[in-house]
Amino acid sequence: MAPSPKAGKAGPANVVIIGGGISGLAAALELARSGISTTVLEAKKRFGGRIHTLRHNGISIELGAEFVHGRSKPLLDAIQSAELSTQAVPETNRTFENGKLQDTKIWEIISEVLRRVDIHKPDCSIDDFLAGQLLDEHTRALVRNFVTGFDAAHTDRISAHARRRAEYSGEQISMDQQSRVTEGYSALVEYFVREIEARGGRLIMFWLDEAGAPGCIPAAPQL
Ligand SMILES: Cc1cc2nc3c(=O)[nH]c(=O)nc-3n(C[C@H](O)[C@H](O)[C@H](O)COP(=O)(O)OP(=O)(O)OC[C@H]3O[C@@H](n4cnc5c(N)ncnc54)[C@H](O)[C@@H]3O)c2cc1C
Repeated sequence: MAPSPKAGKAGPANVVIIGGGISGLAAALELARSGISTTVLEAKKRFGGRIHTLRHNGISIELGAEFVHGRSKPLLDAIQSAELSTQAVPETNRTFENGKLQDTKIWEIISEVLRRVDIHKPDCSIDDFLAGQLLDEHTRALVRNFVTGFDAAHTDRISAHARRRAEYSGEQISMDQQSRVTEGYSALVEYFVREIEARGGRLIMFWLDEAGAPGCIPAAPQL
């Protein structure tokens, strides 16, 4: 193998990345673009990890990540390089309460409450934080349901500080603006896979079947 531009005295750099989710693939593509030999090892029979789009009659159904939150530049740049399109998600949010769907300014409410978390004070759970706040029961339940649903977290265990920091990060990327990848999020995964392979990167899937026997596909993956 010809030494890569990043080769040191010890020989050409060869990086193995464990996990072919979007992070592993994005890292592999960056390395491949810099001329560094890269191998991605994935323990499932598909790449993408928590990104997994099912396509049915031309409709994309997201089993994992669905939204492009805010205006994250690296993500939007990747979507643009992949020549994919996005569709804005309507800003209206609704909650189902007392048998009715009603418009709720959920982002504003959540943001207003979570901004009250003082990260200079000792940390506590979201439940303990809410217990110390003057809030009506409806708002309390909204925050709890949001943290449970959106963060997939137990409100008696998730750190209030961590949730406040996540809120701060969200504010930096205009988190209240949401869009979807029209072609499905997995189209981005497929783009990364194509680009890595085009630069000589290796993508290997290996797994144990139900009997514990190993399987391996060192070739173009089924996405
Ligand atoms: C239901 C759901 C909805 C979501 N909605 C959104 C959303 O709307 N917007 C958004 O931005 N984010 C969303 N997310 C979060 C987003 O999907 C993840 O942040 C992102 O996909 C994580 O990518 P990752 O590559 O870091 O990790 P993962 O996607 O978890 O990838 C890790 C990969 O590593 C593999 N792996 C693990 N261990 C090994 C090992 N030992 N050897 C080999 N391979 C291994 C796994 O099989 C997996 O493929 C959602 C997540 C879920 C589950």
